[in-house]
Amino acid sequence: MNLVVFGPPGSGKGTQAKLLQETYGWVQLSTGDMLRAAIAAGTELGKKCQAIMAAGELVPDEVVIGIISERYDQPDCAKGAIFDGFPRTIPQARALDSMLKLREKQIDLVIELKVDDKVLIDRVKARIAQSGGVARADDNPETLQNRLNVYYQNTAPLLEYYKRQGKLTTVDGMLPIAQVTSAVAEVIKKAGHKGCLGIG
Ligand code: AMP
Repeated sequence: MNLVVFGPPGSGKGTQAKLLQETYGWVQLSTGDMLRAAIAAGTELGKKCQAIMAAGELVPDEVVIGIISERYDQPDCAKGAIFDGFPRTIPQARALDSMLKLREKQIDLVIELKVDDKVLIDRVKARIAQSGGVARADDNPETLQNRLNVYYQNTAPLLEYYKRQGKLTTVDGMLPIAQVTSAVAEVIKKAGHKGCLGIG
């Protein structure tokens, strides 16, 4: 089972993807987390991406496609993966489809977390306040506006891409976290997928 958790910055993708991993045993693959780890480790890749991420722009497609395919080939992903923050462009989605096809797999489901812009902005402001000054470099009101613009321009067209493939389901991402989780679980159940931990 390969699932994409889709939505704008601050929509709760990371939170839901983590909960899905715990409940179903599929592996959360967050390109944002992988890139932040590369920055923290001071790798060449990290150095290349740091300024781009701090500005809220997208790192080049070939970079994220490369790190995702490498990670997906680790044995733990054989049971299923939860793509979080990837794909973010049409070329990334096409590359993901081809990569999975080569491995006789596919994206089974795409779950969109729909959240209004105003709520997204309030959430990021709350995240900054909670962080006590050690917020993510891209968690500030100006960069968030740019991340939203980038989302609508480059990433939102993927909704149509996955809708045409008959894979898209939209969930209200403005509900409390537990209710979003239940709604997501319902989508997975309806689609007939089962986790690999004997639960879910
Ligand atoms: P996230 O944690 O998913 O919000 O990602 C943080 C930042 O990492 C984004 O604003 C981009 O700069 C970069 N990034 C993460 N995933 C991707 C992706 N799939 N394509 C391009 N850039 C990405």
